[in-house]
Amino acid sequence: MANQKPVVVVIEDDPPIRRFLRTGLSTHDFVVFEADNGRQGIVEAGVRKPDLVILDLGLPDMDGVEVVKLIREWSAMPIIILSARSSEQSKIEALDAGADDYLTKPFGLGELLARTRVALRRWLRVPEQDPSGIFTTGNLQVDLLNRWVQIDGKEVHLTPIQYRLLSVLVQNAGKVLTHRQILKDVWGPSHAESSHYLRIYMSQLRQKLEEDPTQPKYLLTESGVGYRLRV
Ligand code: CA
Repeated sequence: MANQKPVVVVIEDDPPIRRFLRTGLSTHDFVVFEADNGRQGIVEAGVRKPDLVILDLGLPDMDGVEVVKLIREWSAMPIIILSARSSEQSKIEALDAGADDYLTKPFGLGELLARTRVALRRWLRVPEQDPSGIFTTGNLQVDLLNRWVQIDGKEVHLTPIQYRLLSVLVQNAGKVLTHRQILKDVWGPSHAESSHYLRIYMSQLRQKLEEDPTQPKYLLTESGVGYRLRV
């Protein structure tokens, strides 16, 4: 199992981008299968049992958001979406539907591989952190089991909502979360639209955790989409 190459299904109708993905991923030890439309992509995702799906949102036969929804009916496999700048709204819809991450075209190989690694680590549940279960990034440590947060080894006191917000980000570390996903997880489904709550509490968390809250190192803003905790 350990030396098996990870399998990726690429669903993209644009031949040059497909070629770029195939070349880039196979030289980094992925086995790549391709589909140039949504229906074939769903079939490939079922047959190949991939570790990761890379999915373009603009497909000839169906909307990429629909592909995400259909795959999510039967699998939690990581899905990274590719979106054009013109499809910001469908990017958010795809993330809300359960896609893990996104890349905005044009993107570089380094960025693609970094996102791929984060998605795969979560999927394969490789314990990248301390075996005690303590999450560490830079000088920030969070122990979800014993409910403490430290900066440089000094305990930081958080209110219950600030803590809940941080723990949702820690549980999804490295992954982009939409405003709606965070609001539902922290405040409940009836607050999915209350993004002003989120802004207020995120700013409070940054005041407590970031050295310079205006230039956050950990609690990153994904412009127009949501937030991501840096790993
Ligand atoms: Ca396309």
